[in-house]
Amino acid sequence: MAKKEELECSFCGRKKSETNLLIAGLDAHICDRCIEQAHGIVLDEITETAVNGLSAELALKKPVEIKKFLDEYIIGQHQAKKVMAVAVYNHYKRLLQKPSKDKEAIEIEKSNIMLVGETGTGKTLLAKTIARMLNVPFAIVDATVLTEAGYVGEDVETILTRLLQAADYNVQKAEKGIVFIDEIDKIARKSDNPSITRDVSGEGVQQALLKLLEGTVVNVPPKGGRKHPDQKFVEVNTKNILFIAGGAFDGIERVISKRLNMQAVGYSASKNEDKVDEDNLLQYIVPKDLKDFGLIPEIIGRLPVLTYMNPLDSDTLRAILTEPKNAIIKQYEKLFEMDDIKFSIDEKALKYIVGKAIEYKLGARGLRSLCEAVLTDAMFEMPSTNEKTLKITQKYAEDKLTNSTLNKLKAVS
Ligand code: ADP
Repeated sequence: MAKKEELECSFCGRKKSETNLLIAGLDAHICDRCIEQAHGIVLDEITETAVNGLSAELALKKPVEIKKFLDEYIIGQHQAKKVMAVAVYNHYKRLLQKPSKDKEAIEIEKSNIMLVGETGTGKTLLAKTIARMLNVPFAIVDATVLTEAGYVGEDVETILTRLLQAADYNVQKAEKGIVFIDEIDKIARKSDNPSITRDVSGEGVQQALLKLLEGTVVNVPPKGGRKHPDQKFVEVNTKNILFIAGGAFDGIERVISKRLNMQAVGYSASKNEDKVDEDNLLQYIVPKDLKDFGLIPEIIGRLPVLTYMNPLDSDTLRAILTEPKNAIIKQYEKLFEMDDIKFSIDEKALKYIVGKAIEYKLGARGLRSLCEAVLTDAMFEMPSTNEKTLKITQKYAEDKLTNSTLNKLKAVS
């Protein structure tokens, strides 16, 4: 028998001895289990409002504020961030629109987005950051694994399986999520092979994607794939799902350049004021270029917001190392700090790492592996020693990189 005076949780009545922790308030107590439960309710409530009511905060977030948020995580790419901010703002405005019975009412169409840019320029990061800001489920799918129904590979519907998983199988949440379709350029029709009648990975997939992008009710296999034939399908409406497609579109510069030259010959050959920036032709991209590359016009039409990513120069790479909110260097600082080690890296060492990323053609993605190669020894040894400072100089970085496997990359590439 518990003693009479034993404290108890004012919420569930559990005795102190039955709890792991009992926290005292002014004249009440709460146990660890009730705290956990209450926390769950708070979280659910927040997501619920974010998803259903689209939370007051979100409704108020203007494109300028959205861009500011993106600025914290993504260096440069101002045009893409601006275009995305507007597209996302409009998309969620569309969701907030009350359904109207009036047939004449203006219907705002979906603003699905097409992001064109070399690999590693931050396309995925941009899509991911938007989803994080909105607190909606987010899924990344690779267009290269998609095939027409009946072929080896994944059916287009499995895109939504991923989103359902990201939403913990909450269909309502999933229906307001964001899907990033990577490598959309890989399903372009191969223009030099027009005789193909059944193009397994190309036009057929584009056709299958159309309905999804536009908005339709899809029967989604919750476990995905064809390995679970007896699973019950879940109906998901894609009307309010925002699709962001990304691709490198290798070689599209030639298409753009050809078009620009033709225009110049056409009517403004003498007016050479707007000089074309040959180093970054993507900035001139228009939907027609995507068509010439091999995307069917209907797909292009359903990804109406088209924008581009700039190639990353050394200044941008340098900034990526230290400036974003969760920049790589900041993460290392944190990791070392947990072992009471003061970590610092000087400017020359940073420039050296950036130089190597460019030399090895690794882009932003390579910065992480280069830093790992430089710091692995220190991260291995220092937690067991008494040394409390680590200063990375160019010499230190050079020594570590010359001895690392990364150096072999150079020999291969
Ligand atoms: P993509 O999808 O274009 O191939 P990612 O978004 O996957 O490129 O970028 C790879 C990594 O490079 C990201 O995880 C991020 O750390 C870094 N990165 C790329 N571009 C930027 C940028 N503009 N600002 C900050 N980090 C970037």
